[in-house]
Amino acid sequence: MEVALIAHDGKKAEMVQFINEFQDFFTREDISLVSTGTTGLKVEKAGFKVTRFLSGPIGGDAQIAARIATGQCKLVLFFRDPLEKHPHEPDVLMLLRICDVHDIPLATNPATAALLIKSLKQ
Ligand code: PGA
Repeated sequence: MEVALIAHDGKKAEMVQFINEFQDFFTREDISLVSTGTTGLKVEKAGFKVTRFLSGPIGGDAQIAARIATGQCKLVLFFRDPLEKHPHEPDVLMLLRICDVHDIPLATNPATAALLIKSLKQ
């Protein structure tokens, strides 16, 4: 199962904390991680194996949306920062829309992500 990890700058620390908390899930053999560029760097530095795409503002969100549209990516954890403006807001909205088009589970904050991961672990 391919899982996408994306975090806006103000939420990257929370993403690292989250994947560490659920390390047993994110290091499973049947889970592969993909990420936008800078989030992926943090994920790698935390010791996880991840395929990194472009940074979000230069197309990384769009690359992950394409993987959802083509049936590769099956779960998205996208920790958005609601208190910041983002130059790539159109790409962010497009990614959220593509998740809905393809009925892909999407968590935009750690509380929802925890519920999703706990249910997948069962
Ligand atoms: P980043 O992109 O991981 O390259 O920072 C995330 C985003 O802002 O969408």
